[in-house]
Amino acid sequence: MLPTNTHILFPEFEYHAPTTIYEATELLAQYGDDARIMAGGTDLLVQMKMERREPSHIISLQRIHALHAISQNGDIAIGAATSIRALFQHLSNLPPSTFRLTALAEACNWFSTVQIMYMATLGGNLCNASPAADTAPCLLVYDASVTLKSKTNERVVPLTDFFLAPGKTVLRAEELLTHIQIPRPAPNTGSGFIKISRVAADISQVCAAVKIVREGNVVRDARIALGSVAPTPFRAVNAKTALVGETFTPELAERIGKIAAQEIQPIDDVRATREYRQRVAAVIVRDALLKAWERSLS
Ligand SMILES: Cc1cc2nc3c(=O)[nH]c(=O)nc-3n(C[C@H](O)[C@H](O)[C@H](O)COP(=O)(O)OP(=O)(O)OC[C@H]3O[C@@H](n4cnc5c(N)ncnc54)[C@H](O)[C@@H]3O)c2cc1C
Repeated sequence: MLPTNTHILFPEFEYHAPTTIYEATELLAQYGDDARIMAGGTDLLVQMKMERREPSHIISLQRIHALHAISQNGDIAIGAATSIRALFQHLSNLPPSTFRLTALAEACNWFSTVQIMYMATLGGNLCNASPAADTAPCLLVYDASVTLKSKTNERVVPLTDFFLAPGKTVLRAEELLTHIQIPRPAPNTGSGFIKISRVAADISQVCAAVKIVREGNVVRDARIALGSVAPTPFRAVNAKTALVGETFTPELAERIGKIAAQEIQPIDDVRATREYRQRVAAVIVRDALLKAWERSLS
C-alpha cells in the first residue's frame, strides 16, 4: 500500500528539545544527516508519514525562546521559529509611522487555515524550499537575508542565493536557520501580495509579490517575485528593469505583468496547467503592482 498523509508514524526516533541555539547546533553537529530540525512540523510530519524522510533524531525548536522573537531597530529581524500567526499579529499591530511590510502581512493572513497558521513557522516555510512557499516571494522583494548558524560558524546569506531546487537550499546538515533579516524599506515604499489557489486552505497555483519605491509619479525602484512558477521562488528581473524609471500608469502595470509572465517556467501539475499559470501570472503581477503603487503614497 502506498504511504499516505493519514497513517501513523511508524519509524522510531529520539526527540530532543533544546532550550538554546547553541544546544541545538551541538545536537546537529553530533547527529548530522541522521537529525532533522522540527519547527512547526507541518511539512516535516507529512513527509515522515509519507515515508519520504526517516530521521532518527528530531530536534524541536519550540523551547528556544530566541528563535520566536521579532526585533525592530531600523531593520527587522524575525526569529526563524516565529509562527505565521505571530508574525501576522506583529505586522498588523505596527504603528503607521514604522515601516510596513504589507505584502508579507498579506501572505501570512492568507496562509491556509488558522490551525496551520499557529503551527507553521517562517523559517520552516523557507527551509522546506517549496516553490510554492507563500512567504518566499515577499521576502525576496524586501531583499531579505537569512542567518545560518552551526556550532562553530555563522553566515548570512541573501535569500536570492538560498534556494537551489525544489526541496533544496544552501543549508548544510549541521546548520540551523536562526533569523530572517529585512532591511528597513526606503520612504514611499508600497508592497502587495496576491495568491491564487484551488481552495483557501491550499498552497498556491500561482502567487506574486511586488514592492515599489515611488518618486512623484515615477517608479524609482521595484522588485517583483513569484511562487509556484519555477523550480524555486523566482524574481522577475526583466519585468523589474522595464518598470524602474517609468511613469506609473495602469497600462504600464499591464505591460509589466505580461513581461513577468514571459519570464517564468511553469509546469503542469495536479494544481494547475502551465498555460493557466502563465495567464494568471500576468494578471496577478499587474494587480499587485496597482496595489503596491497605491500603498506607496501613504
Ligand atoms: C494543510 C496544510 C496547508 C498548508 N498551506 C500552506 C500555505 O497556504 N502556504 C504555504 O506556503 N505553505 C503551506 N503549507 C506548508 C507548510 O505549512 C509551510 O511550509 C510551513 O511554513 C512549514 O513550517 P513548519 O514550521 O511547520 O516547518 P517544519 O515542518 O517544522 O520544517 C520544514 C522543513 O524545514 C526544516 N526546518 C524548519 N525550521 C528550520 C530551521 N530554523 N533551520 C533549519 N531547518 C529548518 C525542517 O527540518 C524540515 O525539513 C501547508 C501545509 C499543510 C499540511
